[in-house]
Amino acid sequence: MAKKTKRAAGASRKNGSSTEYKAVIDDLVMGNRILYDQGVVDGYGHVSARDPRNPERFLLSRARAPGLVQSSDIIEFGMDGEPIRDDGRPVYSERFIHSEIYLARPDVNGVVHSHSPTVVPFTVTNVPLKPIRASFFYPEVPLFDTRDVAGWTNLLISNRELGSALAEKLGKNSVVLLRGHGNAVVGPTVRLAVYRAVYTEANAKLLLQAKMLGGPINYLAPEEAAIMESSQTRHRPGHGTDRIWELLKSEAISRTGRPKR
Ligand SMILES: [Zn+2]
Repeated sequence: MAKKTKRAAGASRKNGSSTEYKAVIDDLVMGNRILYDQGVVDGYGHVSARDPRNPERFLLSRARAPGLVQSSDIIEFGMDGEPIRDDGRPVYSERFIHSEIYLARPDVNGVVHSHSPTVVPFTVTNVPLKPIRASFFYPEVPLFDTRDVAGWTNLLISNRELGSALAEKLGKNSVVLLRGHGNAVVGPTVRLAVYRAVYTEANAKLLLQAKMLGGPINYLAPEEAAIMESSQTRHRPGHGTDRIWELLKSEAISRTGRPKR
């Protein structure tokens, strides 16, 4: 009898973590498609999630256009940025963005890397990317330049050293710009990382428009941002990220089809 109870408890624990894992995979697949549908990524760019079953691992698609990603494409990676089981499928050369950020930031469970088109001009000019609506831009949006750490390169974060330097530049912030390349956005969940990546692009568009109107810009104050963030990061059904995720998911499905499970 005691044996049976022990087995039942073990089965339920396993079941619980597998439910959470499936939910993260679903969000990861949908996150790929949302980022494509919203124009944040094209054929390039990727999104990952920390593995809820093992915080020393993360989940990322095989090298594939994000708008086409299915759950069967997701590969498990170690913190060295290499697949746990190498089955010969191609992997993204910039996977070290993800591994090194997860290593440096235990609070992060979702990472997006994109070449978000309206953000790129802010990586090559002296115009800082400041918050109009994006409360998660505080404390700051730092700029990482591969030249500072590696001289002449193809600008890709294609090894651990560059990934680690990028994670250091990100610091405690939510967004880091990559000079002439794109950005990396992080969040406590994959949903929030995707949401922030979408609104990083949206804020860049608003800022560009405000600059065109001319004159001084009245940015979001850090005090206002802190109040906004406290409600944004709290899960409230029908509000904030929950409402936006439902909408973005529905739009992504109508464009890319329902992913296979
Ligand atoms: Zn890139």
